[in-house]
Amino acid sequence: MAAVKSKNTAPEIIARRAAHRLGLRFRIHGRGLPGRPDMVLPKHRTVIFVNGCFWHGHEGCDRSRLPKSNVAFWTEKISRNRLRDSRSRTRLEEMGWRVIILWECEIRTLEAASARISVEMPLTRRRSAGGSKSIATKVGRTKRSTEKPPAISKLPTKLSRRRLSR
Ligand SMILES: [Zn+2]
Repeated sequence: MAAVKSKNTAPEIIARRAAHRLGLRFRIHGRGLPGRPDMVLPKHRTVIFVNGCFWHGHEGCDRSRLPKSNVAFWTEKISRNRLRDSRSRTRLEEMGWRVIILWECEIRTLEAASARISVEMPLTRRRSAGGSKSIATKVGRTKRSTEKPPAISKLPTKLSRRRLSR
């Protein structure tokens, strides 16, 4: 994917800010991983791709409409990109990574990007659920069953429960 777009595009920067605001730790430009994900979150075994709608052929999206000239050329080019994307995704998933795709059109604002990432990440979903006790408890339980190191996951869970029971 890195081959078809420049680094540090506006959507990438929004996605990074959103992840940072959610308290996620990540590296950028995952060299050595299939498709070179834009963000790598090793602690969550998660990678994030920020895809431009045109270059990556976002289906049903206005921004992915092809130019009127050289239709064959563009069709071929975009479908090759899509094929490469889907192969990278498959390989990453086989390696045990969770793959999150953020489309440029979905993350026009910081709020939208935060919401999209929260939906995909169990940890941040708990945090953004905030007020409701039942949701927090439920997700806390789910969280414990994941493969995260217990020393790290236990503490915030206990803390947030104590805070909620006040
Ligand atoms: Zn789109």
